[in-house]
Amino acid sequence: MSKAKETSFLESVNRNFDKAAEFTDIPKGLLNQIRVCNSVYEMRFPVRIGNQIQVIEAYRAQHSHHRLPTKGGIRYSQHVNKDEVEALAALMTYKCAIVDVPFGGAKGGVKINPWQYTEEQLEKITRRYTTELIKKNFIGPGIDVPAPDYGTGPREMAWILDTYVTFKGGEIDAAGCVTGKPVNQNGIRGRNEATGRGVFYGLRELCQTEDAMKKIGLSKGLEGKTVVIQGLGNVGSFTGSIMQNEGGIKIIAVSEYEGSIYDPKGLDIEKLLKFRKETGSIIGFPGSKKLADRSAALELECDILIPAALENQITKTNVKNIKAKIIGEAANGPISADAELVLNKKGIIIVPDMFLNAGGVTVSYFEWLKNLSHMRFGRMEKRFDSNTYSNFVGMVEKMTSKTIGVREKELLTKGADEIDLVRSGLEETMVSSFQQIWETYKRKKKIDGLRSAAFVVALEKISNDYANLGIFP
Ligand code: NAD
Repeated sequence: MSKAKETSFLESVNRNFDKAAEFTDIPKGLLNQIRVCNSVYEMRFPVRIGNQIQVIEAYRAQHSHHRLPTKGGIRYSQHVNKDEVEALAALMTYKCAIVDVPFGGAKGGVKINPWQYTEEQLEKITRRYTTELIKKNFIGPGIDVPAPDYGTGPREMAWILDTYVTFKGGEIDAAGCVTGKPVNQNGIRGRNEATGRGVFYGLRELCQTEDAMKKIGLSKGLEGKTVVIQGLGNVGSFTGSIMQNEGGIKIIAVSEYEGSIYDPKGLDIEKLLKFRKETGSIIGFPGSKKLADRSAALELECDILIPAALENQITKTNVKNIKAKIIGEAANGPISADAELVLNKKGIIIVPDMFLNAGGVTVSYFEWLKNLSHMRFGRMEKRFDSNTYSNFVGMVEKMTSKTIGVREKELLTKGADEIDLVRSGLEETMVSSFQQIWETYKRKKKIDGLRSAAFVVALEKISNDYANLGIFP
């Protein structure tokens, strides 16, 4: 039997754009300008691997220059191609607009399987890729600022910074050329967990929304909801542990590259992560049952399904088997446009990627601001605030002739550290962005779901930017 042709990731993004654009009054020409990718640098460069020269294919796409710098992660995967990078760059444009992060969208990709290279070889590839970007003026704190994505992390970002500084010695804001760096190398506390923590805040907000929960027959609040997670990398693992520790959810199944496991009583995510680190696999985790294959977990009955691996995981092929009530898109583009039509008809709530995984770019924005200000958040005010609160607590004790306990006093008189401020800024961003999307969803009567509503929010903000630039009447 021939398989139905699946929509590509880029086609899905563009189809979703077109569908949502009908709910705006933005002129056609401006919509075209917002939709297209402004520039792509496609490169091939040689790297010596062992005693051979290997030609590496790589990209950097800058989708929109309406705000600068452009911003977006760098992906290392053997599936990287120009369309994928353009689709991811487009999502970055809409994502930044939704969470009011003043950047244009970009994305980079290097077509390699990072797990097949040694650390030394990966460093060579990363440094050479960065050099190519510098040569073509595709990187810089005011030009284009990469960050981690699938297959990359703080280590790669540190190599990028070091290469940039080697070429641009003396550039005062050089540290802002890349985000997601290690904390001791101009990074920011809370960046590593940011995407997962943002997913938590976003889903918590949805579950607090009475109308939404009524629609799908679930009780209000995150506590006790059953959850399935696909992918235990940076995003999936932090999403799981934060939602479990702070949201009281029950993770009933997890899917990873090697397969998927199920335990209706709930999997302890931190123990599972430790188990995988030690054994190299989630299979065999005590108390769990192995499912048929890695995609079987997606088809389980659950309250919330969280794809946190890659795009096109829910497609025409498996959409009819999806039984979740909510799908939280922690990954970019996990649902194809065709599959979405079916899910919407089934009444499943999709919390879209361009909102839900925006925690990463939000905290990247904080990191960039920290780099430009050359100072850690909280340094100026922490002690001052703490002393003021202490005086206040002392006064209350005096006036009431009562002593406040040591633990309570500690809590009441604490000045905010960098991590407190980052988390607070992230929470505020996710909560207020969700409210904007929800309000738009309610206001546009015939709109089909939260993705279209999120697009409308993004498109209206971007078109305003163009109007402010005076480019269009
Ligand atoms: P990662 O490389 O840290 O982890 C991805 C994990 O998914 C890996 O453990 C991999 O083994 C697993 N995986 C791959 N294919 C799978 C499959 N078919 N089934 C089950 N598991 C599979 O990547 P990440 O940074 O966590 O990114 C994941 C997704 O989140 C991507 O779509 C990325 O674009 C998106 N995202 C990442 C960030 C970030 O800050 N890292 C920010 C926003 C969005």
